[in-house]
Amino acid sequence: MALRFYNTLTQEVEPFQPLQGNTVRMYTCGPTVYNFVHIGNFRTFTFQDILRRWLRYRGYELDHVMNVTDVDDKIIVNAAKENKSIEEYTAGFTKAFFEDAAALRLEQPEHVAPATKHIPEMVSAIQRLAEKGCTYTSDGSTYFRISTFPQYGKLSHNDFSGIRSGARVDVDEYDKADARDFVLWKGKRDDEPSWDTPFGAGRPGWHIECSAMAMSYLGETLDIHAGGVDLIFPHHENEIAQSESISGKSFARFWLHSEHLHIESQKMSKSLGNFYTLRDLFEIGHAPESIRYLLASVPHRKKLNFTFEGLKAAAKSVERLRDFELRVTSTRFPAGRNQDVSERSNEAIRQFEAGMDDDLNTAEALAAIFEYVRAMNTAIDDGQFQEENRWDAARVLEVFDGVFDVLKPSAPNALRGYGQAPSGPSDAEIEALIEERAQAKKARNFARSDEIRASLLEQGVVLEDTKDGVRWKRK
Ligand code: AMP
Ligand code: ZN
Repeated sequence: MALRFYNTLTQEVEPFQPLQGNTVRMYTCGPTVYNFVHIGNFRTFTFQDILRRWLRYRGYELDHVMNVTDVDDKIIVNAAKENKSIEEYTAGFTKAFFEDAAALRLEQPEHVAPATKHIPEMVSAIQRLAEKGCTYTSDGSTYFRISTFPQYGKLSHNDFSGIRSGARVDVDEYDKADARDFVLWKGKRDDEPSWDTPFGAGRPGWHIECSAMAMSYLGETLDIHAGGVDLIFPHHENEIAQSESISGKSFARFWLHSEHLHIESQKMSKSLGNFYTLRDLFEIGHAPESIRYLLASVPHRKKLNFTFEGLKAAAKSVERLRDFELRVTSTRFPAGRNQDVSERSNEAIRQFEAGMDDDLNTAEALAAIFEYVRAMNTAIDDGQFQEENRWDAARVLEVFDGVFDVLKPSAPNALRGYGQAPSGPSDAEIEALIEERAQAKKARNFARSDEIRASLLEQGVVLEDTKDGVRWKRK
């Protein structure tokens, strides 16, 4: 069966193909950089990374835009508290976001679009809305009149037809019970940062940035628009109203939304104060790969309840896969290729693909890999796994890791702060010490060989003596 996604717009699982040629034009809502991003946010960004990787595995090219919201109510308040300009204030958090994203091995979208670098695009979008009669001004601010867009509510599947025209909402985030004409441009207040425009000085409302940037980079109709479920209303509903009023065309064909990460049965959020950042988890010794695995292992439309047991189980799963990889690469097997083992390997890849094609069902895809690993460990124990089956297993792990990307351990410094030189030994240094240890043993200098083993262990490197030689791994 072909690649298919659940589409929030149609509420159905639909086969996916890009509209034009082989390139998927995709827009995802990025972070608001007023603080360190928490791991709930990173659940959504990890889902988007898995989506990217799977689209590429299926042969598509990507043209992906992610915005960075670097001007909004919270940023303005926080920057003022610290006596900083909004540029100064957001620069640090933007940098931290990309460092965190890199530690989690999230690919960079083809375009990263900060809102403040796209004010002219937003101004022109608002002007076009004004020309079409979709806006009005009140107290120096410009609003979108939702009665001009009768399909309003089609994404969130709410009926807003009874809404009183002319009632307005100035804040960017609100509940569907508060659905009213929303602000496109906020008139200048006090000493808030502002830009001059033909419709007055001020700053953009949150929703217009995504419509303006998506359409200027990707055209009027996108293949995919994605974000967390909390964005369905009002943010994405408002994006549709703005974009479709301008173009008269469907704004995005597929809307993909990821469920929340919860902690103690509550949504993890900055406003509730119940959040962990990636840095918090690194500080107490958790590896980026365990976190990435945990975030990716629950399919994106299911809630994920974050617990430390869950995180430890994720670390165990990663370790089991690494152990299997090590076993396959470092054991000496009987010569030849067992056809049954090869066929079982192909079957594992087919099952993995079937899971991923099914609306990115990562749980199903992982189950295929773990069943395979179990079967192969038995085959090895029984002497069925032969020398050339190594390549079959390598291929399975390559397909798996192309998406999950957890097999290679991060340099130890990723666990403490960023941007420092790696503090642990490099692979080459470890190999050299293993060789020295072998020589020491040969010369019956056991004091030295034990010393090398102990010192490597202290640096997080475990040596294992097997009949085929020494294997090592980072803890
Ligand atoms: P923000 O920085 O608040 O604009 O959010 C960035 C992204 O994270 C958006 O796509 C949100 O929908 C998503 N998000 C926020 N909280 C959570 C959560 N607890 N779990 C998963 N995604 C979330
Ligand atoms: Zn957005």
